[in-house]
Amino acid sequence: MDFTTTARLESPLPANITANDDFLEFLFSGSEIQYEALKAKAQQQEDLPRFTLKGVTLTFNLDADYQVVNTRYTRNVVGIVEGTDGRLKDTYVAFGAHYDHLGYLQGALPAGQTDRIYNGADDDGSGTTALIALARAFAQGPKTKRSLIFVWHAGEEIGLHGSKYFTDHPTVPLEKIVAQLNMDMIGRNHDNLASESNTVYLVGSDRISSELHQILLAANAGLAKPMTLNYQLNEPTDPERVYYRSDHYSYAAKGIPIIFFTTFLHPDYHRVTDSVDKIEFEKLAHIAQLVYETGRRVADLDHEPVHDFKGPHLAVGSAAN
Ligand SMILES: [Zn+2]
Repeated sequence: MDFTTTARLESPLPANITANDDFLEFLFSGSEIQYEALKAKAQQQEDLPRFTLKGVTLTFNLDADYQVVNTRYTRNVVGIVEGTDGRLKDTYVAFGAHYDHLGYLQGALPAGQTDRIYNGADDDGSGTTALIALARAFAQGPKTKRSLIFVWHAGEEIGLHGSKYFTDHPTVPLEKIVAQLNMDMIGRNHDNLASESNTVYLVGSDRISSELHQILLAANAGLAKPMTLNYQLNEPTDPERVYYRSDHYSYAAKGIPIIFFTTFLHPDYHRVTDSVDKIEFEKLAHIAQLVYETGRRVADLDHEPVHDFKGPHLAVGSAAN
């Protein structure tokens, strides 16, 4: 295929060394722990002892030269709707989604499969199109006091590159952004469960600003049909570490209060089968309305949402309204 697999050569990686049994036995020969015994313990999944190899010096000669054979460029897409208040309109509420995905499947296809295209309908076509709808609604509908900035991020899938770039090189002063609302995968039901049809997962809303979380609750309560809010992914023990895994984190890392909206994983996640026929459009629109109402309230607030940095403390537990 026409792409190469060398893109991550510039990323720092821990050293990873492979050696055969003969070499390792020799290496352990002066030590009280013998390699065979250690290997047997590892195979039994027993705890391994901590010890020092005696009389061993290893020298590595590394050839770190490489050639760049391929550079790919991309751009974030940014739009602004100006606010109406003379004092507040140089401050912003930011809305985001990512418009990149995984490209197409390279190399040999599994038997019987002919599709190479990663459609990314949910990840993150859902957030990308909701963001267009939000920008249109705010541009054509009633104006807010604060200005609004919409950022379609690039390069999210390979390491939040677009949002990192935007927060390092912002087009408006970062300290003027009072909150960022991120949407990534908001068009499905978690694991295709029908019981999830009114559920949205929220991450981070209380971590930097308790007030932002309260605004979100009020916005949801004000919807014609409030959604079921699930905070499971905001738990500090969440094994998926979702708080760190989409573009909102680039903003949170700079101290900006964020809310991440998602409908969570499903069997088509990062597969070619993440296709548009599986999108729950009514639910997608419903979540966009929740983001709109939350953003509108923050944009009309006469003060910046308080930064109290309490971490996850309000948005805990699942299915709380
Ligand atoms: Zn995504």
